[in-house]
Amino acid sequence: MAIKITDECINCGACEPECPNNAIYDAGVSWKFSDGTALEGLIDFGDGVTLDSNATQDAISDEVYYIVPDKCTECKGFHDEPQCAAVCPVDCCVDDEEVRETEDELLAKKAWLHAE
Ligand code: SF4
Ligand code: SF4
Repeated sequence: MAIKITDECINCGACEPECPNNAIYDAGVSWKFSDGTALEGLIDFGDGVTLDSNATQDAISDEVYYIVPDKCTECKGFHDEPQCAAVCPVDCCVDDEEVRETEDELLAKKAWLHAE
């Protein structure tokens, strides 16, 4: 699974610099696949869908900090535990039950994001 931020977030910003994948963004701030990753050029999702890694994507939340599920690896390959959850003062970085991935899938995502 990925980690998500609930609406209990107090917008302190402590989690954002801790993410090894640059998956955390401030409320209302747009995001890109290329932010903090090795992704560049066109991304081919393999189902006929391609996307410019440098294209600006709409913010997922306008109220609180948010996590981009496609960039979150639960910190696999970098740390033993999710760093956002470790630093969050109000424990609002929690498992996202709607995004389930195996450890192998998370490690593959990490390798994909960082072009290993
Ligand atoms: Fe980033 Fe790790 Fe939190 Fe996912 S679990 S958003 S990779 S710090
Ligand atoms: Fe919100 Fe927690 Fe991140 Fe602070 S550390 S911005 S409270 S999710």
